[in-house]
Parts: sequence; structure tokens; C-alpha cells
Amino acid sequence: MIYGERKVKAPIRWAMVGGGKGSQIGYIHRSAALRDHSFQLVAGAFDLDPERGREFGAGLQVAPERCYADYQTLFAAEAKREDGIQAVSIATPNGTHFAISKAALEAGLHVVCEKPLCFTLAEAEELRALAERRQRMLCVTYGYAGHQMITQARAMIANGELGEIRMVHMQFAHGFHSEAVEQGSPSTRWRVDPRYAGPSYVLGDLATHPLYLSEVMLPQLKIEKLLCARQSFVRSRAPLEDNAYVLMQYCGGVMGHVWASAVNAGSMHGQKIRVIGSRASLEWWDEQPNQLRFEIQGEPARILERGMGYLYPEAREDDRIGGGHPEGLFESWSNLYYRFALAMEACDAGEHDRARALHIPGIEAGVEGVRWVENCVRSADQGAVWVDYR
Ligand code: NAD
Repeated sequence: MIYGERKVKAPIRWAMVGGGKGSQIGYIHRSAALRDHSFQLVAGAFDLDPERGREFGAGLQVAPERCYADYQTLFAAEAKREDGIQAVSIATPNGTHFAISKAALEAGLHVVCEKPLCFTLAEAEELRALAERRQRMLCVTYGYAGHQMITQARAMIANGELGEIRMVHMQFAHGFHSEAVEQGSPSTRWRVDPRYAGPSYVLGDLATHPLYLSEVMLPQLKIEKLLCARQSFVRSRAPLEDNAYVLMQYCGGVMGHVWASAVNAGSMHGQKIRVIGSRASLEWWDEQPNQLRFEIQGEPARILERGMGYLYPEAREDDRIGGGHPEGLFESWSNLYYRFALAMEACDAGEHDRARALHIPGIEAGVEGVRWVENCVRSADQGAVWVDYR
């Protein structure tokens, strides 16, 4: 159970790049990072518009001289201070992630970067090598992975409660972009423009979330080959897809399926993962994150509830309130952010095994997300053919 006490020895001096006023995802970064006193927000380059960024920073209680016009000035100026930042979170559009993460690592900072980490596998490998060389953490906010019922699913699968794993079905299929809403929404406009979004829209933006959940629940699974078909139902989005289907074959014959969509009209979020074994299946849905459906063949379905004594102990460690009271996405992100802080602290102490033992989406998860998207696009652009996963 978490009672809000600080878990790190001292709060990590932290800045944000992006996540300014009006951004979709900035507030949850701050809320999660600041919640358990793991981080202290002391600086930032919050906005593409420096004046708006400064004004916003003031409202966040950041000293005016530490609200910078851009990330280059932020990293250079903070490096000169004795009390300069130790970590930075990057919550800007996809096309900037590589350059900002690279600059941050080169400045000796730990990094929390939004997904997708970058556009190409070559870039991702470069960031991995740099993080290793500089001995810095590079974490990626696959924010749903902090939900306790994901930990429960992982433990149940590891303990053989499903039997032999046969299939994994994933989807992240919402309906918010069923029409060309990008015409009136800057936040959506960059998502459907390859210059800013990269080689994909829904594959990178949505599908990588349940894909990471599958990596958490089924760490032993390795993709052998995949086939992807992608469509732009709103035609002006081409070449980027607003809908995609991916079939995957894992080593050992396990089969997987991912449906990613922003045009699933009527659906709110529609992120689900269903793991099917020879004896039973598990299903988790992000719109009801406190519940995990457990179906044993031939028995009535069970709904396991967060915070209950019948769960595995590791699935109860991050409870912030007893069962029955709904926890949500903000708690999930907070659980990840305190682990990011612990990993950064361990890394600073040279205790890399301790950092690795924390269940966090780190650089490997970031690289894997980019690799997966690259393979999907390669398959789709050859006419939806099976391709060896590489
Ligand atoms: P957004 O367009 O709503 O906001 C982007 C913010 O970044 C704005 O404040 C903008 O002014 C600022 N910005 C842009 N370029 C900048 C720069 N060079 N320097 C400083 N600030 C800059 O975007 P969003 O929806 O918040 O998405 C941001 C990132 O977060 C994207 O990579 C997206 O994929 C990701 N995201 C992740 C999740 C998740 O669940 N993990 C959810 C939504 C978005």
C-alpha cells in the first residue's frame, strides 16, 4: 500500500520539455511525477511559444529565470547551476523526441520520453547506445503499465493459471477521429502528418500501448513474423493510417492480433488485451482498469477486483486506497513515475541490477515499440504480406 511517503532519498530535480498549456498529456506527467515527492519541478521549456511557456511555468511555481525559451537553452543553462536539473520529461510531438532525448542524454540527464521514442530503429538504437554509454535511464511513458491488474495478470500467467499460452488479442480502437477533426485541432493535426508523427499514426500512437502490456504480461514471447494491413478511412490522412490490423506469429507457435483504430465510431478508448491459454483466458480493458476478467473453460466467468486479498501480493503493493474505490490512469502513471525515480537513483549509485529489477518501460520497451512499428509499415507497404520480424 502506498501512503504518499517519499521513496527516494531526495527528490530528483526535474524539468519538462513540452506539456504546456493546452497540451493533452502534460498535466498527467506533472501530477504523476510530483505525487509521491519523487521529483521536484524546477525548470522547463514548456511550450513551442516561449512567452506562453514562461507564463505557464510561472503558474506552475517555476522560477521565471528557469522557464527557458527552448530545450537547448534549458540543458545548457541548467548544466551551469550547482542545483541544476537531474532529469527531464519530454512531452512534445513525436518528430522532436529523438533530437531532444539525444541532447538530454548528452547533457548527462535521465530522460522520460513520450512514445513513440523516435521514428526509426536506427535512431532508437543510437539512443540506447548513448544511454548505456552515459549510464543514464531512458524511460518511456507506456502509462497503462502501472495499473495493478496488469501486474496481477503477469503473475497469473507466470504461475500457469491460464495453462499453455495460445493467443494474444490486443486492441486500442477509439472513435474520436472518425471525421477529419484535425482541421480544427492542432493536437490532432500533427498526428496525421508524417513530418511530425513519423511513419505511422495509429500503429505508433495507439497500438504500442497494448503491445507493451503484452510484453509485461508475457515477457517470454518473441515475435517471429507479422502481417499488417493499414487504411486511411479519412482519405486526407494518407499515407498515414487511421486504422490497422496486425497478425503476429510468435516463436513457439503462439498467435497474436492487434487492432488499432481512431475511427471506431462510438468507442471511447477501446483498449483491451485478452490472453488465451489452454485452460483459461484473461481480459483487461482500460475503461475498467480496476477489474480483470478471468474465464476458466467450463466455469462461470470471474471478475477479479483491484485491492482484494485474493490477488498476488505484488498486485497490491501499489494500492493507494482499498478495493472498491476506483483508481485510474493518474494512479497508474504515479506508480510508473515513482519507479522511474527509484531506477534513476539506483543508476546514479551504480546499482544497475537494482534499476533493471524495477518493472518499468525503459529503453528496451522504447526500442521495441519503434521496431514493431517499422516492421508493420514494411509489411503494409508491400501489400500486407508476412515479413520476418527484425
Ligand atoms: P500536444 O500537441 O497536445 O502538445 C504538445 C506540447 O508540446 C505543446 O504544449 C507544445 O507547445 C509543446 N511543444 C511542441 N514542440 C516543442 C518544443 N520543441 N519545445 C518545447 N515545447 C514544445 O501533444 P500531446 O497530445 O500532449 O502529445 C505529446 C506527446 O505525448 C506525443 O508524442 C504523443 O504521442 C504523446 N502522448 C502520449 C500519451 C500516453 O498515453 N503516453 C497520450 C497522449 C499523447
